[in-house]
Amino acid sequence: MKPVVAVVGRPNVGKSTLVNRIAQTSDAIVHESRGVTRDRSYYDAEWNGRDFTLVDTGGIEPLKSDDVFSVPIRDQALAAAEEACAVLFVVDGTTGVTEEDESVARMLKRSKKPVFLLVNKLDNPDREEERLWEFYSLGVGDPLPISALHGHGTGDLLDEVVALF
Ligand code: GDP
Ligand code: MG
Repeated sequence: MKPVVAVVGRPNVGKSTLVNRIAQTSDAIVHESRGVTRDRSYYDAEWNGRDFTLVDTGGIEPLKSDDVFSVPIRDQALAAAEEACAVLFVVDGTTGVTEEDESVARMLKRSKKPVFLLVNKLDNPDREEERLWEFYSLGVGDPLPISALHGHGTGDLLDEVVALF
């Protein structure tokens, strides 16, 4: 069995964009239509000669922002984290911390899995460094700036991830 790495986080933070970049595919559905129910999707990935399986989550998009929907998102993240040896927790550096982020973070702390806190959409990391600080409040470690769209930060991240295997 290849090591499994789960990508979790609330909708629209860029999970599928990150999965497409790491797995070098375009199969993960970016911005998929709201309300579509899909659970977890699995992709083959490789970095520095290490093979692993990447799991995209979050097919359940909230129909409207409503507390009722934060439970399924957290539960999907939980199911994915349970089968993974490491978790990539994606948040949105342009919006800051939300209640859904906090809900996912609490679950991840209980799971005791290694978590990488990825602050995405920092397309100009040198200018946007100050946006990282508020994510320390999630209590899941040092926030790492990335741009799933442009690829900034993803190589360093993958070096750290495959070092766990
Ligand atoms: P998911 O719901 O978490 O899977 O998010 P998606 O991957 O579908 O991305 C949601 C939106 O954010 C899309 O319009 C993406 O193009 C955009 N996005 C994802 N990553 C980045 C990024 O690094 N920078 C910017 N500016 N936009 C991004
Ligand atoms: Mg997605």
